[in-house]
Order: sequence, then C-alpha cells, then structure tokens
Amino acid sequence: MDRLAIVVPCYNEEEVLEICSEALREVLSDLQGKGKISEDSFVLFVNDGSKDKTWELIEKEHEKYPDKIKGVKLAGNVGHQFALTAGLITAKDMCDISVSIDADLQDDVAVIEEMVDKYHEGKDIVYGVRKKRTTDTFFKRVTAEGFYKFMSFMGVKTVYNHADFRLMSKRALEQFAEYKETNLFLRGLVPLIGYETDCVYYDRKERVAGESKYPLKKMLALAFNGISSFSVKPITFITTLGLIIIIMSVLAAVYALISYFTGHVTEGWTSLILSIWFLGGVQLLCIGLIGQYIGKIYIEVKNRPRYNIEKVI
Ligand code: UDP
Ligand code: MG
Repeated sequence: MDRLAIVVPCYNEEEVLEICSEALREVLSDLQGKGKISEDSFVLFVNDGSKDKTWELIEKEHEKYPDKIKGVKLAGNVGHQFALTAGLITAKDMCDISVSIDADLQDDVAVIEEMVDKYHEGKDIVYGVRKKRTTDTFFKRVTAEGFYKFMSFMGVKTVYNHADFRLMSKRALEQFAEYKETNLFLRGLVPLIGYETDCVYYDRKERVAGESKYPLKKMLALAFNGISSFSVKPITFITTLGLIIIIMSVLAAVYALISYFTGHVTEGWTSLILSIWFLGGVQLLCIGLIGQYIGKIYIEVKNRPRYNIEKVI
C-alpha cells in the first residue's frame, strides 16, 4: 500500500491551520477507508518562520494526532517556494506519494482522490489545474493569466493555470532532489523532470480565512525569478536589438548623407549622427554577445541533471 504525505507550507496561517488540518485528516481517512493509501499516511506542515501562533498550533495538532500530523519548523522565513521544497525533500524518504497544497484551502481537497487515482494508473506527476478564476479579483486574474502567457512567450514551459497544487511520486521527488539550484521556481522546474504526467481540474475557492501572503510585489518577484531562472531569452533580445539598430544605422546614414549633400545641415551633425547610430548598435550587439556567454555560464552553474531515465529494458 502506498504511503501518502500531504505537504503544506504555512506562513502566518493561525486562522486557517486547524480548519486545514481537519479537512486534510478527513481526506486521509476517506482515502484510507477506500484502500487507496496506507494507514500510516500523514500531513506534513512546514512552518515557514511564522510570526504568529502557527507553530504552536502545529505542535498541538501533532499531540492530538501524532500519527497523522507531522511538522517541520524552518529556522526563519524563506518564502513559499523554499518552504515547500523543504517539505517535499523531508517527505521524500518517508512516503511513496506526495501532494503539495496551500494551507488556505483555496485548492479543492476533493480532487486529491482523483490525483491518487491517476497515480495508481501509473502517472508520476499530476498537476492540479484551475478551471476558471471566478473567485479571484479582476486584477489578480488578469495579472496571473498574463503571467502564464508571458512565461510561455519567454520560453519557460509551465502548465497553464497550475500553481503548486500537485502530486509527485517518490521517484519524481528523488529526481526533483537532483535539481540543486537556489533560484527556485517550482512551476518551471517540475515539468523538466519528465515522466508520465496528467492534470486534474478544479474550481479555485476563496481563502478560508486570513489574507493572501502574496502581494503584488512578491508576485512580480516570482515572475521575474521564474523567467530569469529558466530562460536566457532576454539576452537574445539584446543581441537582436543590437542587430536591428545596426541595420537602422544604414538608413540613418543614407538620410544623413542626403541631408549633407543637399546642404541643409549644421556642420558636424552628419558625422555625429553616423557615429551615434552605428556605435550604439555595435555596443548593444557586443553586450548581447557577452551576455550569451554569461547565459551559458549560468546554465552550467545550475548543474542540472542532463537527462532523466524513465525505463531501461
Ligand atoms: N507561504 C509560505 N511562505 C511565505 C508566503 C506564503 O509558506 O513567505 C504559504 C502560505 O502560508 C500558503 C501558501 O504559501 O499556504 C500560498 O500563499 P497564499 O495563499 O497567501 O498565496 P495566494 O493564494 O494568495 O497566491
Ligand atoms: Mg492562497
């Protein structure tokens, strides 16, 4: 029987923790009753340096349900992505299946069963995907959807409208642990793991209580981190821009020379214009070129696994 670990990062979630614990314990009992997961399955709360009573509540839940509720206390606040990673890496050696979910229960706990079913059908990664965003504010919806589109434009493969609600099997977690990069963007990283994947769809709800720990500033940082950790496209844009400006400098040259010979110009203007355009283009091109090498160094430094073998026969 497979042991399930539900990993929940928590930052200042005292208002939702008990509700969350109860909902997830119910999911565990339900799945255990149906014989889909083992009796020693558990919920793993990761306290991400909360300033409120979150950790005390986790300890209390653990005392009440020592087998079902486990906790990890991080030494300080490291942010959602790292907190979740800490939980997944900790769970890796204790479980056969992991499901990551936010503490605020915005993601539908009812589809965890569907995820586990897909796992039993042989999938290693199952993404939870939002159907529509009716509960989000207009602003959140537009920025979030724009974010996924922009990511794919920048060449970062992500699953559209999937946040960090997903199932990963033990071997997917083991492969995930091979990615040791510090600039972590899970939504871009997990698709690199490969294996058989699938999606389950659900409606995203309102937060049960408390407020969002992802203000616009953090969202923008996440987006920038996502792009800069996965794509060297911005550097390529610089190179292209340099090339375009060099081509434009030819046009500028023609225009400047015509003006010069028709005699409508102040002395010195022609040579200035020619140098500005041409040199500007050359400089950008060179910066882009150097950038290409830096991009390569960046990719080398990440030291990602070069491939992941699924099967040998
Ligand atoms: N979270 C965390 N560390 C942080 C910020 C958030 O562990 O520094 C957790 C938070 O407790 C929640 C999840 O990340 O379980 C998602 O945060 P939130 O629900 O506030 O984000 P939103 O759903 O508004 O995007
Ligand atoms: Mg939330």
